[in-house]
Amino acid sequence: MKALAFNEFGGPEKLKLQEVPDPKIGPDEVLLRVRACALNHLDLFVREGIPALKTPLPFWSGCDIAGDVAEVGTAVEDVKVGERVAVNPSLTCGRCEFCQQGEDSMCVRYGILGEHEPGGLAEAVKVRASNILQLPDHVAYEDAAAFILVNLTAWRMLVTQAAVRPGEDVLILGVGGGVSSTAVQIAKLCGARVWVTSSSDAKLERARALGADECINYTKHDWAKVVSEKTARRGVDVVVENVGASTWKQSLRSLRKGGRLVTCGATTGPIGETDIRIVFWNQLRVIGSTMGNRKEFDSVMTQLFRGRLKAIIDEVVPLKDGAAAQRKLAEGKQFGKIVLRP
Ligand SMILES: [Zn+2]
Repeated sequence: MKALAFNEFGGPEKLKLQEVPDPKIGPDEVLLRVRACALNHLDLFVREGIPALKTPLPFWSGCDIAGDVAEVGTAVEDVKVGERVAVNPSLTCGRCEFCQQGEDSMCVRYGILGEHEPGGLAEAVKVRASNILQLPDHVAYEDAAAFILVNLTAWRMLVTQAAVRPGEDVLILGVGGGVSSTAVQIAKLCGARVWVTSSSDAKLERARALGADECINYTKHDWAKVVSEKTARRGVDVVVENVGASTWKQSLRSLRKGGRLVTCGATTGPIGETDIRIVFWNQLRVIGSTMGNRKEFDSVMTQLFRGRLKAIIDEVVPLKDGAAAQRKLAEGKQFGKIVLRP
């Protein structure tokens, strides 16, 4: 089969649509013909090389996958060839104390398809049968692929970890990103008033169309000051962070007493300044979040199937143009997801 693989680590120019061995499935696995695979920053990190992973080369990433079942392992029941499916990208051991509690993304051997195993930037991919979910006929492959990872992540952040309640103020930083943009519609579904920041008026307009109430261009205004003024110095109930170093200090300052900061990333750097006095005096909670568990995957996919949440797609391009697509993602020029089609 063909895959958008790299033979050495580095920039997007290392990607080549090349012939690689067909995946061989085990008894509890299925082989999927990939119909759509969305890009994530994870694809860039894997291509650039993550030293701790010892990724075997050639390798191809891709964790947001929708496709058709092409082959079924001998021990797999209730899955038929030809079924349209979406893939939960979580790889778990199934045995540790956290797996026993259903906390997949806390598994001591947690991995992600396309990071720890070859992924969906190829014509075919093998996955454990327990990781697939049947797609209703009305849901397009591109929408499903674009939806999975960012919504799984944002759903756990907002619904499970921060437990956003109706009427709360939720501030989402850097709204162009995949998690941040869909967090807008999830926060609205929770009944929140949504605040967003971006450097781009065009991205703020897109966020407004998704339901954002207060849109702040941080190149024109001091966003923390705007939040403080417009809430009469109270602050917001929840801050949704994945920006990191450049916003962390102000994120903590923007919370009301007893407010919650939930973070899933640190795009601008991992070391942020924390004034500990603000944390204890204002009784703040800082909550980390990564990916999600099977229950959250099922819950959030159901919202897509029922039309309550939408896939936010920047563009759909052929797999062979994946290098240019990854370059665009690295430059942050997109709003929502870039989807590749083999
Ligand atoms: Zn485990």
